[in-house]
Amino acid sequence: MNFSDLTSVFELMEKTSQRTSLTMHMAKLYANASREDVGILTYLCQGILVPQSHGIQLGIGDKLAQHALRVVSGNSTREIESLYRKNGDLGITAQMLLSKKTQSTLLSENLTVKKVCDNFYKIATSFGEGSQDTKINLLGELLSNASPIEAKHIIRFVQGSLRLGVGEPTLLDSLSIYHVAKLISKSDEITADGNKIKIAHVSINYELQEKEKSSSGSVLEFSCLGKLGEIAAKKNQTIILPSISQNISFPLLSISEVKSRYSLKIDILEAKRLFRELFDRAFNMRSDLAFVAENVVDGKLSEIEKISPAVFSPIRPALAERLLTPEQIFEKLGKCSVEGKYDGFRLQVHKKGNEVRIFSRKEEPMTHMFPEIVQAVKNDFSAKEAIFEGEAIAMDEKDSRFLPFQVTIQRKRKHGIFEKSSEIPLRLFAFELLFADGVDYTKLPYEKRREKLISLIEKNSRTIRMASRILAKSSNDIQSFFEKCLSEGLEGIIAKDLNSPYVAGARKFAWIKLKKSYGKSVDTFDVVVIGYYLGKGKRTQFDFGGMLTAIYDPKKGTFKSIAKVGTGFSEEEMQSFAKMLEKISTKDKPQNIESDMEPDVWVTPKIVIEVNADEITKSPTHIAGREATGEGLALRFPRMISIRTDKDPKDATTESEILELFELQSQK
Ligand code: ATP
Repeated sequence: MNFSDLTSVFELMEKTSQRTSLTMHMAKLYANASREDVGILTYLCQGILVPQSHGIQLGIGDKLAQHALRVVSGNSTREIESLYRKNGDLGITAQMLLSKKTQSTLLSENLTVKKVCDNFYKIATSFGEGSQDTKINLLGELLSNASPIEAKHIIRFVQGSLRLGVGEPTLLDSLSIYHVAKLISKSDEITADGNKIKIAHVSINYELQEKEKSSSGSVLEFSCLGKLGEIAAKKNQTIILPSISQNISFPLLSISEVKSRYSLKIDILEAKRLFRELFDRAFNMRSDLAFVAENVVDGKLSEIEKISPAVFSPIRPALAERLLTPEQIFEKLGKCSVEGKYDGFRLQVHKKGNEVRIFSRKEEPMTHMFPEIVQAVKNDFSAKEAIFEGEAIAMDEKDSRFLPFQVTIQRKRKHGIFEKSSEIPLRLFAFELLFADGVDYTKLPYEKRREKLISLIEKNSRTIRMASRILAKSSNDIQSFFEKCLSEGLEGIIAKDLNSPYVAGARKFAWIKLKKSYGKSVDTFDVVVIGYYLGKGKRTQFDFGGMLTAIYDPKKGTFKSIAKVGTGFSEEEMQSFAKMLEKISTKDKPQNIESDMEPDVWVTPKIVIEVNADEITKSPTHIAGREATGEGLALRFPRMISIRTDKDPKDATTESEILELFELQSQK
């Protein structure tokens, strides 16, 4: 596929924030892609080159990108900087600079998506002496063959600011639609209202047909031979496709008759739910959408059904729901297992023979950071091949107390790893077994997973221990264990359903957390920084006077404003915030932000911070929860606790969680 074909779709995507539109654009891209481009496309649309777990990031800074632009456009640094300052977007700057050049001097060869990806990969993996020049040359090669529009997206991609708003749920929906459309186009008959109808021709229109259906219909058109019988009179038929075992109800948008052929239009968007569960599971097991997409395009549904955990491919983590009291938890789960909630780093440990790899909650490789844990897994964990999870935390062994997160976090570093590991050794409290020696434990109930996990850990291991737990037979049991955990310095408890499998990648009631009290507020919030204010008074020197933050709406893929956070940081933190945020500042409000409030500077939503607040209140100023409550929701007196480097923006508190927390708070 030519890169220009992809960037023309990027242009369309950029103009819409409607999830259904993005979904149809993606489905069409898959339909038009050659097999070898499917994986690449999937990564490029997510703004990545390979899955997070490979630890490869492009991250080209402004200076380097400007250098490449200078070489290619012939403009001076000053000219480029002044243009950039005016429009605040280096991608647009690149587009403008290259537009000034004539086609003949610039366009020498057509860029393909493969060529672009190859160069990106080389840029990301060139290190050491001379690597800056190599990177500039590789980027320059792409830019000198790029059209202005292509240049815009190349620059945005290498800077990590593609801004398409295509999240994982959108990609999974689009694969489902693509797959159903393919099945239909292969069918030669359908059944509608008991009548078998021969299909003469199928055409799939991936454009949204606003006129046909006021919501967001998109059509698939059949032309059929033979009698349509009664169905011509009815709408919302159950149209059965022989190639799909389930009966799928596709709303019938219209039927018309032309020369004894009938043209049936159905809303293909209805197909998006059909294969989602299957594709979701595959994605949750491997954390790699390109892998899922390639299997879908190959039509290997049976392979997708069989997908099980693979060592060294991180599994997407299970998450916990919230309830307010031990009584509510016991009412929900009945007899359950209650474990301590450790406040450290969530680690997913993969072992094969003598090789151990560790991944973070975000599926990033962390192996090098925890040498003592790697060694302990080699010595004290008896499975030959395994995937298990635990929380790594610093401890004061003398008093058997857990140390606060501020101590554990010091182990997150690039340098001085060995020194710090002897100064602050971590203990890994194992809580879940996902795979061991050929057996997929994610499908087995909690008790089986735990039993096996205990049997694999060396009893006297100093570094790997089982997470403490009780089997609660009443809410009183939960209450007293909760108090015991808090007295030992833990954050709270996590109650676990004894019969539930491991629910990868989802926040479900299989796990319920209860944390120490934050006043009226039920939990802390993980919000995304969407803008910042310039310092006034004492803060002028830091160029930083607080942040505008948002929660995430996964349905729309947007970040909705919820609070202005102005307290909780030290002077040192303010300085580093100012620097960090300046790097991701944008001139205009990014497409995927919804906010009526205007900060002094907008930023690309990238940084997640944990905040505490007195309560959630109704407020007309903010967008979060507005559709559901009529008014927006805001955090009252928000205070920053920490930067959540272990979370991506899409892992931030979601809109439905805020609504749920608001409801829980009113019960408190
Ligand atoms: P929080 O900010 O409260 O840690 P979170 O959003 O990171 O929450 P949740 O799904 O709400 O994640 O809570 C589960 C988290 O609790 C896990 O990600 C893990 O890091 C931590 N944890 C600590 N102890 C346990 C345990 N025994 N079992 C499962 N998770 C645990």
